[in-house]
Amino acid sequence: MSAGLAPGARVVKGACPHDCPDTCALEVLVEDGVAVKVSGAADHPPTAGVLCTKVARYTERTYHPDRLLHPLRRVGRKGEGRFERIGWDQAIEEIAARLKPLAAGNPEQIVPYSYAGTMGLVQGESMAQRFFHKLGASLLERTICASAGSAGHALTLGSRIGVDVEVADQAKLIVFWGSNAITSSVHFWARAQAAKRAGATLVAIDPYRSLTAEKCHVHVALLPGTDGALALGLMHVLIRDGLIDRDYVGRHTLGFEALAERAAAYDPVRVAGICGVPPEQIESLARLYGTIRPSLIRVNYGMQRAHGGGMATRNIACLPALVGAFRDAAGGVFLSTSGNFAVDEAALTRPDLLAGRRPRTVNMTTIGAALEAADPPIRALIVYNSNPVAVAPDSARVARGFAREDLFTVVLEHFLTDTADHADIVLPATTQLEHLDVVKPYGHYYMVANNPAIRPLGESLPNTEIFRRLAGAMGFSEACFADSDEAIARAAMRGDWDFDAVRRVGWRRVGPPAGTARFAQGGFDTPSGKVEFVSARAQALGLDPLPDYVAPYEDTRSPLAARYPLAMISPPARHFLNSTFVNVRSLRAVEGEPRLDIHPADAARRGIGEGAWVRVFNDRGSLRLRARVTERARPGVVVALSVWWKKLTPDGRNANELTSGEALTDLGHAPTFYDCLVEVEAL
Ligand code: SF4
Repeated sequence: MSAGLAPGARVVKGACPHDCPDTCALEVLVEDGVAVKVSGAADHPPTAGVLCTKVARYTERTYHPDRLLHPLRRVGRKGEGRFERIGWDQAIEEIAARLKPLAAGNPEQIVPYSYAGTMGLVQGESMAQRFFHKLGASLLERTICASAGSAGHALTLGSRIGVDVEVADQAKLIVFWGSNAITSSVHFWARAQAAKRAGATLVAIDPYRSLTAEKCHVHVALLPGTDGALALGLMHVLIRDGLIDRDYVGRHTLGFEALAERAAAYDPVRVAGICGVPPEQIESLARLYGTIRPSLIRVNYGMQRAHGGGMATRNIACLPALVGAFRDAAGGVFLSTSGNFAVDEAALTRPDLLAGRRPRTVNMTTIGAALEAADPPIRALIVYNSNPVAVAPDSARVARGFAREDLFTVVLEHFLTDTADHADIVLPATTQLEHLDVVKPYGHYYMVANNPAIRPLGESLPNTEIFRRLAGAMGFSEACFADSDEAIARAAMRGDWDFDAVRRVGWRRVGPPAGTARFAQGGFDTPSGKVEFVSARAQALGLDPLPDYVAPYEDTRSPLAARYPLAMISPPARHFLNSTFVNVRSLRAVEGEPRLDIHPADAARRGIGEGAWVRVFNDRGSLRLRARVTERARPGVVVALSVWWKKLTPDGRNANELTSGEALTDLGHAPTFYDCLVEVEAL
């Protein structure tokens, strides 16, 4: 027991499991077996004692009256959400009885569907993947969030080893590019504020005047999906005006002359026409970027959710090399730090259990189409750590697929989400307070351990145990299916890794000491070891080897814009994390109701007043939202903060009613959520 605690109380060290770069170290105060408070660890440098408003209410979510506490079997129609309670043995036997004939015929008829509902390496893809590998089920291409940006970044710089957040406050220029850090990376924002207090200039590049953008010195409100052109425009000015670090470029980059020729075609006037911003703003931003050091670009995944998202990230990743920003510890580009960690994927997921089989791959982004037309047809879906009926694009089509009567669906969940409502069997999963895990961050340099703080609620079980039991029922006898969660955590990392020590301390820093300028002398993880302005790998993929601009599919300058003139984006609402937390009453109360932010000029043209109900529509669908007439939305762009549970909206729909489930990004096969033209009318 820690000093100062009441008898029967203790503090347990944990890790936030959510899809957020900050991966906070948690301290869970437990009194008489009940978690009463979740706080941020004060001595974990990135967390610094602070949690976001969402996870600060984690006990409200854990002890939510709607928490699933028992296995359930469907008794109503799919989507209706009517179930009866069954026992674990019955649930596992029924699932195995449905899967066995499918596996005996063609196991590819079985598809796992999962993402980052937990970022934990143990409860994420360890025992689950072992199960599906042994089964020979279809493989899932996990593209829903980050794959376009990751692929673009990889072509230019290699692995994602972003700037260490612990030195971000030393930067003198911070550019938030497609990043609303106040909502989605609050600890980085705290460092940026410290930098601002020390005199740094903050810039936001975002179609929306987000909470972050309004607190920056400069806001470039470009049109969605045009970021790649803006990056080329900046290169144009930097090169034209001699604002580049010739020594760094000469030593540590590949293909400068070809890049300069390409960038010459993107003068500020042309780029201004593409991006919908004044050419003078491009000129002045380039001058800032070319004259201030250390300069840090905090690029986030928001800007890669359009056709050219991969290329745009590739282009942005070129900028720090041009100006020599990589010379500084606080300089460079920061998409993610996930490349910093040597996770032992093979030990966790055991691909050897495929035993030479090469199952087909199903892209999670196009699940709506796959449920209609995959060959062989998808006959069983097992969903964990994800809520595709709410978060996948072209939502109506996804819901139709999940409603197929001939589809057998199992959902592991904490709540009856939009997806769980479509399940044949729902299995209650534990939350982070109830199981063991270790979390790899993508926003700092520390692995963070999670110790169970309380006993599982009701009959809920960790994902690992659920897949252990399923493996037993399927007759899988390999020893790895008996591995404990501790054994999995101990095997999670290659090299020097002592999980037992990490779980005692709570975290462990990986990589060089804070303050190291990792790329000051080059050493990039690309084939040439340099920043690749010209990429032979891109060429081998049949792509342009040089940075270029890839326009949105649904360009505001295209013929489609005559019918649908407004570009809609649907970034995260501050009190939700993707679709997690939407059912937490206090958080939903702050968000109010699903709304559409629309510029006063666009609203006036359509006779839309503040607070009016509007219909937002395109060829894929329509939904009803409450208009908020505001200059936060730039002219020509409307913003539907997301991701609402469909069943918690007035018309049972969310913004994904309008997004495309087929149009994929140029790299990474990812969704194009923010490449979406719509029209709006008053109701
Ligand atoms: S969601 Fe992000 S900021 Fe909030 S507690 Fe988790 S890691 Fe920290």
